[in-house]
Amino acid sequence: MNFQGGRLRRCRRWQARKRAELKARHTKSATRRLRRRVRREHRHATQVNHMIAKNLVAVAQRTGRGIALEDLSGIRGRVRPRRNQRAVHASWSFHQLGAFIEYKARRAGVRVITVDARFTSQLCPDCGYTARNNRFSRDGFGCRMCGLAGPADHVAGINVRNRARLSVGTCQRARTCRLKADG
Ligand SMILES: [Zn+2]
Repeated sequence: MNFQGGRLRRCRRWQARKRAELKARHTKSATRRLRRRVRREHRHATQVNHMIAKNLVAVAQRTGRGIALEDLSGIRGRVRPRRNQRAVHASWSFHQLGAFIEYKARRAGVRVITVDARFTSQLCPDCGYTARNNRFSRDGFGCRMCGLAGPADHVAGINVRNRARLSVGTCQRARTCRLKADG
């Protein structure tokens, strides 16, 4: 199972556009409506995060699996900060999702493994080749070495899973896997 918030992101883009429309109007009532909208979006995002975490933990529990999460705390310092309210909102939301998952998983007795998030979007899970331009667009992954291609979110998810398996010693290719060298 692989959830990386594509739908939530699209929903947020729409919300951001709506906000921009309101912001363009400098009237008192527009400002009030803008504030109300932001609060509503926060509530909605929190609700969605609760739901995602709940479903994820339920599936893991039912199927006897653990959950792998990317450790995003280490990334913050390295990623160029964008002065963009949406980006701040999005990272807040993903951290919140991680916190909800950890909390609900602990309560349900589901194991959570946090893995290094570095290069998970640049690494080819097949041949191990890592390069920035493997990720040729926001949504697309294509390995420059072996040609493996797929949706970027999906490929990153495979890397996260493999890294988690490595860290608990259940990776089939643990001895040769290139992931080991990377993190
Ligand atoms: Zn490759």
